[in-house]
Amino acid sequence: MTGTATEISRGASVSLIVQKFGGTSVGTVDRIRNAAARALATQRAGHQVVVIVSAMAGETNRLLALASELSPLPDAREVDALASTGEQVSAALMALAIQAQGGKARSLLGHQLGIITDSAYTKARIKAIDAQRLHDELADGTIAVVAGFQGVDEAGNITTLGRGGSDTSAVAVAAAVGAACEIFTDVDGVYTTDPNICPTAKKIERISYEEMLELASLGAKVLQIRSVEVAMKYGVPVHVRSSFSEAPGTWVVGEEQSLERVTVTGVALDRNESRVMLVGVDDRPGIVAQAFTALSRENISVDMIIQSPSAHTTPAGPDGAVSRKTDVTFTVTKADLARTQQVMESMRVVVGAREVRYEEDIVKVSIVGLGMRSHAGVAARMFELLAAENINIEAISTSEIKISCLVATRYAELAVRALHDGFGLGTPA
Ligand code: ADP
Ligand code: ASP
Ligand code: MG
Repeated sequence: MTGTATEISRGASVSLIVQKFGGTSVGTVDRIRNAAARALATQRAGHQVVVIVSAMAGETNRLLALASELSPLPDAREVDALASTGEQVSAALMALAIQAQGGKARSLLGHQLGIITDSAYTKARIKAIDAQRLHDELADGTIAVVAGFQGVDEAGNITTLGRGGSDTSAVAVAAAVGAACEIFTDVDGVYTTDPNICPTAKKIERISYEEMLELASLGAKVLQIRSVEVAMKYGVPVHVRSSFSEAPGTWVVGEEQSLERVTVTGVALDRNESRVMLVGVDDRPGIVAQAFTALSRENISVDMIIQSPSAHTTPAGPDGAVSRKTDVTFTVTKADLARTQQVMESMRVVVGAREVRYEEDIVKVSIVGLGMRSHAGVAARMFELLAAENINIEAISTSEIKISCLVATRYAELAVRALHDGFGLGTPA
C-alpha cells in the first residue's frame, strides 16, 4: 500500500513510550489533567514519554464549519492553517497541565519538530521527522507534548494529515524514535464492531495489522488507516485503550502474534461514502480511463467501481448501427463529493454522459477477517443475512480478507447488527 514516513527509520531506544490522547480524552480541562497525570505516572515508572494530542472534542469540526460558512469549496491551504490550530491549543494546555502537577513539559508544533509532509493539503503524508530534536527535548526529563494531525511541507506551508490524523502522528513519531505507542481513546479497545452501534460488540485482545488496516479503511475510525500502515511498515506495537480506565485494551500486532484464525473478525460501517453515477456513457475503450484520470489528477480517490450496460443505449438506426452506452457507478468520500462534481461537470461532454447523478444517502457495511482467505461461502452468508432483514444491496466489492456492500443509510445500524450477530461475533445477550 502507501509508503508513509519514507525517511522514518525505526530507531532504537530502550524505554520510550508515545502516548496519544484523542479528542474526548482532552475534551475538557479536567480530562487534560487526567491525561497529564497518566503521562507523569508513566514517566515515574521509568520511561521517557512523548505525548501526542488531538484537538479538544468537536473543535476540528467547529473550525471546518467556520471555513464552510465563507466558501463552499474553501482553499485547502487555508483550511489546513485553520484546522491545525485545534491541536496547538491542546498541546499548550497539556504542557501546562503537566507543569501544574510538578513535571517538566514543552509543547511542540509540527514545524518545530520537523514533521515534514508532502503538500497534499488536508490529506498530507509524513515524509520525515526530526528524531534528534525529540531526543534532545526528552534528555533532561521533559515530557514532549506534540500537536498531532499537523506538519509542514518543504516550503514551510502548514499541512494536516486527514481526519483522525493524530493517530498517524503518534505512530510515526513512535516509529521515528523506536518507541511503543499507546492510543488513548473513548472506548477501551478495538471491538468486533463499533460498540456505540452494536451493544453485543466484544473487545478484541489482539488483532493483526492486516485486519486492522481493513477495518480502519472500511470506516472503523478508532484508528486512522494511515496510522496502521505506518505501524505495519515499521513494526510499531500499538496498544489501543481507554483513557478513563486502567484496563488493558487491544494490541495491534503482526499476523503471527494475533489470535486464532476466525473467519470474520469484525464488521465496519462507513458513513462517509457517496455515490456518483455517469449515465449513458459511450461504450468505447479509453472513456472510463479519461474520467478516472481527471479524478486522480485532483487527488480524489475512488473506492467501488461498477460498470453495467445502460438502459440508454441508442436503438439501431436505419443503417443498423447501435450506439452502445454504459452506466459507470463509483463511490468517493462525501468530503470529496463537491470537487468530484466539479470534475464530472467538466468531463460530462468528453465521456458523452447523458447525465451525472450524485447520491449521499448511502453507507457501506463490511465484514473483515483473515480466515476469509480459506473459507468459502462467506459472501453468500453475508448476502443472506442482509436479505433476511429485507436490506437491498446496491453495490458489492471484495478483497482477499473483506466484503463490502453499499446499502441505503436508513439500514446502516440494522445491517451492522444483523451481520455482527449473524456471524456469531456478539456476546450472548
Ligand atoms: P479519538 O478522538 O480518541 O481519536 P475517535 O472518535 O476517533 O476517538 O475513535 C473512537 C471511536 O471509534 C469510538 O468512540 C467508536 O465509536 C468508533 N469505532 C468504530 N468502530 C470501532 C471498533 N471496531 N472498535 C472500537 N471503536 C470503534
Ligand atoms: N483533530 C483532528 C480530527 O478531528 C485529528 C484527530 O483528532 O486525530 O480529525
Ligand atoms: Mg480519532
